[in-house]
Amino acid sequence: MTSFSHAILEWYDNYGRKTLPWQLEKTPYKVWLSEIMLQQTQVTTVIPYFERFMARFPTVVDLANAEQDEVLHLWTGLGYYARARNLHKTAQIIAEQYNGKFPETIEEVIALPGIGRSTAGAVLSLSLKQHHPILDGNVKRTLSRSFAIEGWSGKKSVENAMWKIAEEHTPKLGVERYNQAMMDMGAMVCTRSKPKCEICPVNDLCQAKAQDRQLDFPTKKPKKDKPTKKAWFAIYYHDGDVLLEQRPQTGIWGGLYCFPEQPENTLNDLSEHYGMDVKSSQQLIAFRHTFSHYHLDITPVLITLNKKPNMVMEGTRGVWYNLSQPMTVGLAAPVQKLLDALPFEISNGE
Ligand code: SF4
Repeated sequence: MTSFSHAILEWYDNYGRKTLPWQLEKTPYKVWLSEIMLQQTQVTTVIPYFERFMARFPTVVDLANAEQDEVLHLWTGLGYYARARNLHKTAQIIAEQYNGKFPETIEEVIALPGIGRSTAGAVLSLSLKQHHPILDGNVKRTLSRSFAIEGWSGKKSVENAMWKIAEEHTPKLGVERYNQAMMDMGAMVCTRSKPKCEICPVNDLCQAKAQDRQLDFPTKKPKKDKPTKKAWFAIYYHDGDVLLEQRPQTGIWGGLYCFPEQPENTLNDLSEHYGMDVKSSQQLIAFRHTFSHYHLDITPVLITLNKKPNMVMEGTRGVWYNLSQPMTVGLAAPVQKLLDALPFEISNGE
């Protein structure tokens, strides 16, 4: 065992997290669910989502048998919805191809949708003590600082160098404690903007600290300005209901319910196309939603109808969503935000 791993394990025994909900009576299913939820999301945010998922889907087969709408509904607010769709797909594969038993070889786990090498390693090491390294964002930060690894980890050569160091330091004995410790270190000690070097168990080994260059690691992604796109949301409202449409499975907000939208302010044409009997129209405050690869400037328009059209539009999965009795469907974050504000906007407009 290296002196780095030894120090990390000792720290874990004293300070590491051992009682998170997915750490109690660990199973590959629980660890997998938590790992997917924890991608890009903090522990405190994840806990209530994890508990709701486990209460509703105590086994992977329960998750496989659920409707996708319900899975997306329970995911609403966590963002990065491809994670939820892959979670559902993976559960169905495990139910059908593995008789509901989570596969236990790294090759089988990596082959499942939405699971990369690090997540597969985390699931099998944390729940079954198999010897696999992990390399999530937290681990990359601690390793890149401790060993002064230069270069952006999105570059294959840099990522390979990090995996090599991760492999060298991941101990066979105590792998489950070490991997958990490395995640905890990144979340609790070697944090993004203010690493707590004074209490760090590897501060005497850390090369970034020795060079006083902690914040130079990990090397940031080369900057590119995000493009901006525009969208006009048509909020068709009648008698307590608003019209939502399910988006196609691929592309942004795949499978989620959204207001009908247009890339330009052509909502009059849209209303005509849908045969809407418009009573009044009111532009609400525009706002920006930022995705990882672009900004979306959204202008919502509240369009009150005299009556609902007789037919729901062809080729879409349109539903009338009742504001006081919300349906169990997945909603894109800006749609949820608008739905929360709507009763206020409507009472102001009337
Ligand atoms: S000494 Fe500081 S920078 Fe280095 S690993 Fe510890 S917390 Fe991170």
